[in-house]
Amino acid sequence: MPATVRSGVTLIDHPLVQVKLTQLRDARTGLGGFRTRLNELATLLVFEATRSLATRPEMIETPLGPCEGRALVRPLIAAPILRAGLGLVESMLDLLPGVSVAHIGIFRDEVTHRPQSYYFKAPSHLAEADVIVVDPMLATGFTAVSAVTQLKSAGATSIRFVCLVSCPQGVAQLRAAHPDVEIFAAAIDPGLNDKAYIVPGVGDAGDRYFGTAGCVTGAFV
Ligand code: URA
Repeated sequence: MPATVRSGVTLIDHPLVQVKLTQLRDARTGLGGFRTRLNELATLLVFEATRSLATRPEMIETPLGPCEGRALVRPLIAAPILRAGLGLVESMLDLLPGVSVAHIGIFRDEVTHRPQSYYFKAPSHLAEADVIVVDPMLATGFTAVSAVTQLKSAGATSIRFVCLVSCPQGVAQLRAAHPDVEIFAAAIDPGLNDKAYIVPGVGDAGDRYFGTAGCVTGAFV
């Protein structure tokens, strides 16, 4: 099933994505299940988000003779927004072992919900690369805008944004600040609560992925 574009978001509505997202959202899903589902979803989302990457012909030799295959034209860089974005990187690196990683450390001020940047380390070939920013949630959009702005200031020219769950406020914010950045998501939820969490969303994605949510259920190994 092809992805559909809705409200400026490429919505990945593949049945497997929607089923796994439902399991991820479920409050009964414990640490192990949440991690597994997030890793699986990352693979499926990145697969879709890389669909339009440019390739060029490449001649290789199979054991039986020459074969014209394809190679990526530009290097890829994964750019997780810490901390929750790390949950999407592991399976990205399984799928694409040769990609470099730009780490972007941003936390949200609890009161203003504005982004506070505390770390930025990116490969030097940002300008020549296709960069995929990953964060499970596109909530207010302030963090996403800050991450993309920092990447552009460091030289990035081609940026995609991949998240699991978005909402109209976040999408509007990111599109207004960076209209050139294509957004990929598995869902566009109705909105935010007064703590700037997406509703119904998944809760705190970082806490659920790293087991810092207070109540950890299920197997401990
Ligand atoms: N970050 C999260 O982990 N969840 C949200 O709903 C919003 C931001």
